[in-house]
Amino acid sequence: MSELDLFFENKMNEECGVFGVFNHENAAELTYYGLHALQHRGQEGAGIVTSDGKMLHQHKGEGLVRNVFTQQDIDRLKGIHSIGHVRYSTAGGGGIMNVQPFLFRSQSGPLGLCHNGNLVNANQLKVYLESEGSIFQTTSDSEILAHLLKRQRGDMLTALKESLLYIEGAFAFLLLKENEMYIALDKFGLRPLSLGRIGDNGIVVASETCAFDVIGAEYIRDVKPGEVIRIDLEGITSERYATTCDQSMCSMEYVYFARPDSDVEGINVHQARKNCGRILAQEAPIEADIVVGVPDSGLSAAIGYAEEANIPFEIGMVKNKYIGRTFIQPSQTLREQGVKMKLSAVRSIVKDKRVVLIDDSIVRGTTSRRMVDMLREAGAKEVHVRIASPEIKFPCFYGVDFSTYDELIAATHTTEQICEVIGADSLAFISVDGLTKGVGRSPKLGKNCGQCVACFNGDYPTYLYEDVKCANKEVK
Ligand code: AMP
Ligand code: SF4
Repeated sequence: MSELDLFFENKMNEECGVFGVFNHENAAELTYYGLHALQHRGQEGAGIVTSDGKMLHQHKGEGLVRNVFTQQDIDRLKGIHSIGHVRYSTAGGGGIMNVQPFLFRSQSGPLGLCHNGNLVNANQLKVYLESEGSIFQTTSDSEILAHLLKRQRGDMLTALKESLLYIEGAFAFLLLKENEMYIALDKFGLRPLSLGRIGDNGIVVASETCAFDVIGAEYIRDVKPGEVIRIDLEGITSERYATTCDQSMCSMEYVYFARPDSDVEGINVHQARKNCGRILAQEAPIEADIVVGVPDSGLSAAIGYAEEANIPFEIGMVKNKYIGRTFIQPSQTLREQGVKMKLSAVRSIVKDKRVVLIDDSIVRGTTSRRMVDMLREAGAKEVHVRIASPEIKFPCFYGVDFSTYDELIAATHTTEQICEVIGADSLAFISVDGLTKGVGRSPKLGKNCGQCVACFNGDYPTYLYEDVKCANKEVK
């Protein structure tokens, strides 16, 4: 296998969701409901590993949470501690072997592990670890941490901190031993991870706070960039594995990934999207009769745009809720069919109207083109497209599903050209400043208010290794 093939093989661990419970008698059941709430972050596979204090138990499978677990499976997952994972669908799949949490067995006892994010030096570490005798069971980069841990001396917390120093990229790791849980976030805080409380003494951790709401847990705080947490029955220990941490929360969490009812680092996602819609209306106004949001991804921004522009917000498109996300289908042809099956225009609302159509982002341009066509077929007089994120011109190396230039229409086309491709009367994107202002994080957090905006401006927070850059062609 060539270096490039290896990279793509390794790129299995896309934008996912992690959930954990420590010290609760219904650990597996709570994790099941937590994973349900995180289902939007990954539909390819799901799994849970529990601990009863002596042994670890595992169940995992491909597909949606509701199809992977039966009541019997949950009953068999004994114990008061648990970690769970939902895995994002990627072209090429990866099969059951890459579905997490992984369960490793060794002399030092069993270890459950799951991960959200993507490591940028996975190839280098794999080559090094294999040369030192490691044999990998999966093609996922998440497994690397287990092999690094095995090579360290000292207690688990020290070993974990040492191991994390080798790893570059985006990660939110949950690890489970018989009587302890470990939580680690990369030093840029690229992925969201929150801590909560449940019952008298239970601790929960989740990629998004919406998972706390469904199980009745109380939010405590977000895990900090570079933080490593150890939880046992005595309490919680928090340390830093890295001394220099530079907060760079993924902007796409606010734009697209996170559920609107989640708060990412204290900011409600719906509110952030709505504010971005308002700013978009200021930056790119247009005379129109109605504002329509692409369901569901553009609705919050459309409400903000309509309020600011003083144009009525209308349900001009509806979604068939029983069709999965567009990106689940791997080929372009299927994706286009998927869009058609998923959404339809409301003829009596849009007919003879000048429509402002709002969506959260343009990746390949497929959705926008279909939406514009659909509105015109339904009789819209004009269709003006407004996008609540800046042009995505650069690939993401941190686990979000646009990893090559070829996939990004804005990498090769100007805004005018994209407008022509999607067949709109006009097209505008929010600016990078508008986005960070709309999200509303504190400027004290540093550059871009502590947000990663690399896919918009190419300013990557981490070092990028040559093979990663090559695999994605001509990163400038
Ligand atoms: P496209 O049709 O390729 O332009 O994709 C744009 C649509 O996909 C938008 O409606 C977004 O809501 C959605 N989207 C944006 N980023 C992603 C992503 N990383 N994974 C899945 N869907 C996405
Ligand atoms: Fe998120 Fe874009 Fe940064 Fe990737 S490059 S982590 S998608 S903001």
